[in-house]
Amino acid sequence: MTALKLYNSLTRAKDAFAPIDPRDVRMYVCGPTVYDRAHIGNARPVIVFDLLFRLLRHVYGESHVAYVRNITDVDDKINARAAERGITIRQLTDETAKGFHEDVAALGCLRPTAEPRATEFICRGAGELDMVKLVERLIERGHAYEADGHVLFDVASMPAYGRLARRTLDEMEAGARVEVASYKKGPMDFVLWKPSKADEPAWDSPWGRGRPGWHLECSAMSAALLGEVFDIHGGGIDLIFPHHENEIAQSTCCFGTETMANVWLHNGFLQVEGEKMSKSLGNFVTIRDVLADWPGDIARLAMFSAHYRQPINWTLKSLQEAERTLGQWFDAAAEGAEPRPAPGVVDALADDLNTPRMIAEIHRLKAEGGRKALAGTLGFLGFRPDVFEDWRAARAPKAGLPREEIERLIDARIEARREKNFAEADRIRDELLAGGVVLKDGAAGTSWEVAR
Ligand code: AMP
Ligand code: ZN
Repeated sequence: MTALKLYNSLTRAKDAFAPIDPRDVRMYVCGPTVYDRAHIGNARPVIVFDLLFRLLRHVYGESHVAYVRNITDVDDKINARAAERGITIRQLTDETAKGFHEDVAALGCLRPTAEPRATEFICRGAGELDMVKLVERLIERGHAYEADGHVLFDVASMPAYGRLARRTLDEMEAGARVEVASYKKGPMDFVLWKPSKADEPAWDSPWGRGRPGWHLECSAMSAALLGEVFDIHGGGIDLIFPHHENEIAQSTCCFGTETMANVWLHNGFLQVEGEKMSKSLGNFVTIRDVLADWPGDIARLAMFSAHYRQPINWTLKSLQEAERTLGQWFDAAAEGAEPRPAPGVVDALADDLNTPRMIAEIHRLKAEGGRKALAGTLGFLGFRPDVFEDWRAARAPKAGLPREEIERLIDARIEARREKNFAEADRIRDELLAGGVVLKDGAAGTSWEVAR
C-alpha cells in the first residue's frame, strides 16, 4: 500500500498516515456558510481536499473513504442577508448552497460522501446525537455553564485548551479581540448556545428558545456521522484558532476522548495579484467570476501550482500558464482512457499532496510519450478533456477544424515525413494553418495549438 505522509498541524510534522480503522478512512472538512457566493479563496480548501479525497479513494478503495463537508445554514450573517433581500432564510440558504454546488462541480470536485446541514443537527430524535445533547453533556461534565440565557464553554475547565493553536491561555487572552460580556466567567469562554429574539431563527432547548454557536455544529455533525474520534479534519489556516481549537475543546470534553481527529490539515491563504482579497480593495473574485472567463479545469490546475500549505498568488499569468499546460497535456493524451494515476503522480501526492512535484511528473509522462498513462492520470485528477475542449472550441477561429480532423491530418503528416515526402508534409501543415491550427514539432512529437 502506498505510504502516505501528511503534515499534521497538531504535531507540526509530516507524519505517516494510518487510519484508526485500517480499512476505512474518515475525513471532515469545514464547509461554507451559505449567505453569499463563494470566492476563489473558498475554492482552495474545496479543491485541495477533493484531491486528497481522490488520493484516499485510490489508496483505500472507493467505498472506504467517508468525506463529510458541512453546510453552515445557521449564522447571523445569513439572518441579516435574508432580511436585507426580503426572502426567507431557507430561500437564501437553498439558493446559495445550489450555487456553491454548481461552482465546485465546475471546478471538477466530487461531491463528498455526506453534506449535512447544520440546522438538521440541532435537535434530533431521542438517542440521536445532536447539538442540544452535546451541550447538556458538557454542562453535566462541568465544562459548560449557563449564564444569562446563554450557555458558555468554560475554557479554564480544560487544561489542554490551546494545544492545536500552541498558545497559552494568557497569550490568547492578551491577543484576542474577545467579546467582553458580563456573564462570562473567563474572557476566552465561548458561546455554545444563545437566546434568539422573536425575529431570529430559534429551536427549543433546556435553556429556552435559541440557536447554537458556530463551533458547536462541527463537533455535533462530525461525531454523528464519523464517530467521536476520526482520522482527518481539514480547513483553511484561518480556522485553526478559534474555530478548530473550540471544536476540539467541545468534542474531547463531551466524549472524554484524548483528541477529536488524529490529523489536522490546513491550507494556506489565497491572495489575488499579490494582495489580500477584500471587497474594499475591489479585488474580490467569486468562483463565478473566474468561471465566466475560464473553464473550471484551468482554475483547478492553477490552484495546484502552489503546495497547499503555502500561500498562493492568484494571477492572470498563472491562469494563462495553466491554460497552456493543460492544452499541451490534453493534446498529448490518448482518448477514452480509464481514470488511473501514474505511479509517479501517486508518489508525489502521497508526499503531503505535493502538487508542484505532481505537475513535474505529468510533464515527464508527456515527454516520455505515455499517452494512455497521461490520459488516465488527468482523469484521476478530475480534469475533463470535454470541458476543456468545449471551451477551446468556443474560442477557436471560425474556420477551425474538428479535433478528429486535426489529429487525422497530423498522423498523415507524420506518415508523409516518414516516407520522406516533405512536399506532402508541408502541404498538410499549410492546410492545418489555413484551418487555424499551428503545429509545433518537438522532441516528444508534434503538438498543436489554435492560432491567435
Ligand atoms: P468561510 O466561509 O470564511 O468560513 O470559509 C470557508 C473556507 O474557505 C474555510 O476553510 C476558510 O479557511 C477558507 N478560506 C477563506 N478565505 C480563504 C482564502 N483567502 N484563501 C484560502 N482559503 C480561504
Ligand atoms: Zn468546523
